[in-house]
Formats: sequence, C-alpha cells, structure tokens
Amino acid sequence: MAEYKIKDASVEKIQAGGRLIQNLDFFNKEKAQHLLEGDIIILKDSNNQFIAKMLVGRQNKGLGWVFTLDKREFWDEALIEDRLMKAFEKRQSLLASSETTAFRLFNGEGDGIGGLTIDYYQGYLLINIYSQAVNQSIECILDILEEQLSPQGIYVTLRFEVDSSQKQIYLARGNQAESPMIIKENNINYAVYLGQNWMTGIFLDQRQVRNFVKQQSQNLRVLNLFSYTGAFSVAAAVGGANSTVSVDVANRSFDLTQEQFQVNNINLNSQQILVMDVFDYIDYAQKNNLKFDMIICDPPSFARTKKTTFSAEKDYKDLARKLFNLVAKDGYLILSTNHSQYTIDNFRQEMIQISQESPGQSHLIQQFELADDFPTSQDTMSKYLKVLVFYRES
Ligand code: SAH
Repeated sequence: MAEYKIKDASVEKIQAGGRLIQNLDFFNKEKAQHLLEGDIIILKDSNNQFIAKMLVGRQNKGLGWVFTLDKREFWDEALIEDRLMKAFEKRQSLLASSETTAFRLFNGEGDGIGGLTIDYYQGYLLINIYSQAVNQSIECILDILEEQLSPQGIYVTLRFEVDSSQKQIYLARGNQAESPMIIKENNINYAVYLGQNWMTGIFLDQRQVRNFVKQQSQNLRVLNLFSYTGAFSVAAAVGGANSTVSVDVANRSFDLTQEQFQVNNINLNSQQILVMDVFDYIDYAQKNNLKFDMIICDPPSFARTKKTTFSAEKDYKDLARKLFNLVAKDGYLILSTNHSQYTIDNFRQEMIQISQESPGQSHLIQQFELADDFPTSQDTMSKYLKVLVFYRES
C-alpha cells in the first residue's frame, strides 16, 4: 500500500476527529494529485508514524475520506459490513418506530464511510453515492443491505458525474416503490417519490425543525419561504396554524405542496401556495405591510432565478434584514442554511447582529443542528445544517 506523508496540522485534524482529506494535507501536493480513484493509501506523519488509511474518492468536498485509524483494518467487505451494522444498531429505535418511518440510516463520514449515505423510506432504501471510488463497492453494499434488512427495494442515486454507460438514478434491487409513497414523520404524512430525482419531496435532515414548527404554530400566521413541497407549511398546519403561505419559484412546487396538504386531510382554504420569486414576494409583503407570526426561511446555498441570484454566504444578511421587518410582535423567525462553508459561528454572529439592528426586540431562543440520525465527523463541512430560531418580543 502506498504511503504518503501529511502535514502536522493535518495529523492533528485527523486525531481530533476530522476525516476529510484534501490535496493540501500532503507534503507533496503534486504527488497526491496523481492518485487514482479507488486507491487506498496510508497516511503517515513527518516521523513516518502510521496515522490513518484513506480511500481516494474525489467529490466536491475534497480528495477523499479517512476510513480507519487502525493499522489492522482494510477497505474490504468486513469493514463495510462493520460500519453498516454499527449504523443500523444506532437507529434501532427509529427502525422500530411507527410514528416516523423515514430517516437517515447511514450518514457518510459520521458513520465511518465518507461519500455514502443511505436513507430509510418505510421498508425501502435510497443510497446516495458521491464518488466513483465508493461506487466500486456498490454490489457489496447492496448485498449487505439485502441480507441485513430485507428491504422491499433499493434505489441508487449517483451524485457524481457519470459516463453514458451509467444511470444516475436506478432501482438496484427489489421492487419499485409506490409513487407517491406516503411516509410518516412524527405522525405527519408526507408524499415522497423515490427513483425520480435526487430530491424525494422531503429533506429528512429538518425533522427536528418541522417538529418545532408543529409544536409552536397554534393560531399563527405562517410564512414558508423557499418552500419546495411545503413540508414546513404542512407541519405548521397540523400544529394548528391559522394560515400558511408557501413561496417557491419552481412550477412543480404548486402541485407537490397541494398534495402534501391533501395527504394530511388539511383544508386548502387557509393555505396559500405561490409560485414566485421569494424576493418579489418579500417586496410585495413589505409594500402591503403584511406581518407574520412565524417565518421559516430555508434557501439553497446558491440559487439563480431569471431575476435574482442568491449566495447564502454573501446574501443571507440582506435577506434576514428584510425578514425581521415582516415578523409580528411575539413572532418567530426561523433561519436555516445548509451551506457547508458557512460556519455555525459566522452564521449565528451575523444573524444576531442583524436582529439587533432591526426594529423591536428579538432574541435567539433556539438553535438546531443535525439530528442523531445524521452523525458527523469533526470536519466543518460535515456539520452543514444550521438553524436559528429568533423570537420577536416587541
Ligand atoms: N425548505 C424546503 C427545501 C428548500 S429547497 C423544505 O423544507 O422542504 C430550495 C428551494 O428553493 C427549491 O425548491 C427552489 O425551487 C427554491 N428557490 C430557489 N431560489 C428561489 C427564489 N429566488 N425564490 C423562490 N424559490 C426559490
């Protein structure tokens, strides 16, 4: 096995729980650039001491991931099975739950294999693979999943650039799922579609936040921005919201949001679904002096529409400033970002500053990060989800 020396700071990073490796971590960056997809290499410190083993699998986050700090372990079937079994063990209570039937079963580096995630959807599995290197082990992963969990079907989504011989999304084993499939999360129904798009209709990482919304929304006027299929609006409506407004620029969001309400038997009369640019809606709300008791804002990290471009790191402050003006007294503003480079410290600091510059008195009352079924490594990029809840007192 080839051996490579890494810098002292990189050794420290790994020993502190970092698992992501970049070209920059190596003393000889040029040599590292020639590593091949799927190579297994030993990382050593400047004194030639063993530190870790990594799998070279390029993806947008970096060159690859450390998979063990144990000399005696190899990248083989036994290791993959061990990591998967440990992950299933951790999710025993979710696997047995009848209130929540969709969740993350395996979360990449947080469960010991970077570049691989597996979601559980009511007896079906959805695998996401982020590198060609991890994909080389797909048959082994499928065999273990079939044997251990007997799923009704397993879908695979390849989240890297594929050549014409590979399908980006396919049913790998078993039967097709119903379309839509109705899953439950804390006893709320959500319609999801497997095998069609990398997005299924629900982002499982927001479960705790949807639950917060459900618990706090009694009698409130709720605004859900960047609403996609309206999952937050549904949680609010189930929680007794007086009305909801869901805003998303994608045409598909209208039917999908309507469907999410319908599968929960929610009367559509008090639910407004708008297909439009969020920034236009904010201008409209400002002009008409509309106020909301709860605003949920969950934009993508980057987005471009015909009219606007948005980058969370650069533009979130302006967006938040406008939203603090739309929150009524005693209202909540829930600000979420999944931008992996925007750290929790920066996000929190910037949003607190905007809250202080805004009219009235607002306080940060709660913060959510990833839930237990989304364990992370100590790499900043791994802890991508940050959600802040502000309460406007006056
Ligand atoms: N909050 C959603 C997920 C949001 S995904 C949920 O919990 O399910 C991001 C969404 O933002 C996409 O549906 C996309 O269509 C929408 N979007 C991106 N830019 C937008 C803009 N300028 N105005 C309105 N919607 C936008």
